[in-house]
Amino acid sequence: MPGRASENGAFMFDPDVGAGMPKTLEVACTDEDCDLDMFELHYTYDMPDGTGVEAFACPYCGSADALEEIQV
Ligand SMILES: [Zn+2]
Repeated sequence: MPGRASENGAFMFDPDVGAGMPKTLEVACTDEDCDLDMFELHYTYDMPDGTGVEAFACPYCGSADALEEIQV
């Protein structure tokens, strides 16, 4: 990915963070009336542990209840 060299960027973070790469979440909107299929959430290192899909709402229909994490 241009402009985002993770090898260089890693030096900016405390190695003791220890969690590896920030979490990526694949989320599907299950609302019947929503045309959005799925989207990806990319967390930063600052995202608190345990922040899950329930913390977000669909960026298209705005439903906070219809979101479902896709386990890959
Ligand atoms: Zn939706």
